Amino acid sequence: MIKAKKSLGQNFLIDKKILKKITDTTDIENKIILEIGPGTGNLTSYILKKNPKKLFVIEKDNKLAKDLENKFNNQITIINDDVLKINETDLFKEKVIVFGNLPYNISTEILSKWIINLKENFWFESLILMFQKEVADRIIAEFNTPNYGRLSIISNWKLNIKKICDIKPEAFYPKPKIDSTLLYLLPKKNFIKINDPTYLEKLTRIFFNQRRKMLKKPFNQLFNGDQKVLDKLKIDLNLRPQNLNLDTYYKLACEYEKLRG
Ligand code: SAM
Repeated sequence: MIKAKKSLGQNFLIDKKILKKITDTTDIENKIILEIGPGTGNLTSYILKKNPKKLFVIEKDNKLAKDLENKFNNQITIINDDVLKINETDLFKEKVIVFGNLPYNISTEILSKWIINLKENFWFESLILMFQKEVADRIIAEFNTPNYGRLSIISNWKLNIKKICDIKPEAFYPKPKIDSTLLYLLPKKNFIKINDPTYLEKLTRIFFNQRRKMLKKPFNQLFNGDQKVLDKLKIDLNLRPQNLNLDTYYKLACEYEKLRG
């Protein structure tokens, strides 16, 4: 067995039922597929069985990238690089389906990068991604629940997100200490337009900085107590950050952009 690098979040999926389940999530035949972090190529093999039109993989580990080249020859296109440095919009002219058993240490960074950098035209058709369960729970959390926060608000801005299943540590080698969750993420047809997403990032950072405190302080800090905004969005400043629903945050980010932009 290959020696896994902890620094690169290497936990390889070995459970055949789960590998099949992941590739059964969506139609792959004749589609352009991108796999993030193929590792030893377990999921890659399952994707290839479904006859994609083309399969790109992005793998940072040089040794694994070489091994993949030997294993799959010209069946796949290997990009031996850091996914965080890739500009997917430049790379793909046709929409792709993305699969990834993501390195857990950078999974939220990858997702945030994709959402924040999205232009009008999505470069992907869907994302089928594995996260650590605790992170997936935050991504899909509803408002008024303890897990709801920045990650839920940013992730759900442009994407509809569905949980496929939880996956036990035994499905991986080496066995991680935590459970995992597979999510299916699809572009929304309609979403509230915020021209510069950094306003949404800043707003949610300041609002959730003290998640147990009332909204009064962060609101006044950003909006200087602007009553018109409160009336328009029907916000009660005695509530707490987790009590505002997704759309209220997106509308607040628009108001903040108008004020600052
Ligand atoms: N997909 C494989 C599987 O399911 O067996 C491996 C998944 S493992 C959790 C994460 C993979 O992502 C590893 O192969 C690791 O080397 C790779 N990786 C880690 N950081 C990366 C980065 N910044 N860019 C691209 N690949 C990365």
